[in-house]
Amino acid sequence: MHSAETREKIRQKALGRKHTPEARQKMSESRRGKAKSESFKRALSVRMRGTRNPCYKQGKKIIHGYVHLLRQEHPYSVGGYVKEHRLVMEDHIQRVLSPEEVVHHINGDISDNSIDNLMLFPNNVAHLRHHAQLRAGRGYKNRTANSRYHKQGE
Ligand SMILES: [Zn+2]
Repeated sequence: MHSAETREKIRQKALGRKHTPEARQKMSESRRGKAKSESFKRALSVRMRGTRNPCYKQGKKIIHGYVHLLRQEHPYSVGGYVKEHRLVMEDHIQRVLSPEEVVHHINGDISDNSIDNLMLFPNNVAHLRHHAQLRAGRGYKNRTANSRYHKQGE
């Protein structure tokens, strides 16, 4: 009769014998290699999207997934550029947004800057409160998806 602890040790040994350490190393390497090349290709295509865009040299660039338009005359331009979703909202409400105001993407797609997808918050506290409410409504599973958009703030 074995104690629970000994039984556990025996079980783990038995599991370990299924594959030699070398075989397991090879398997994990091939898995890792595959994952790396696929994600690398994806990352490359994301990086290239901005430069392939015909508008790239005409005042449009994409930074961290956000479309930026050249608006050197804008009071809150950064390096001459303003985020497109803020410009769309400004055009909609016919005034310049203050830096405290946050424009949220309703469907979570930060490349979709149609006015129907945008929602204005007076500040980031109100904006984050909205995200918290979304999380509570959708449940735990979507937390990761939501926090991805949070990193960018909007
Ligand atoms: Zn948001």
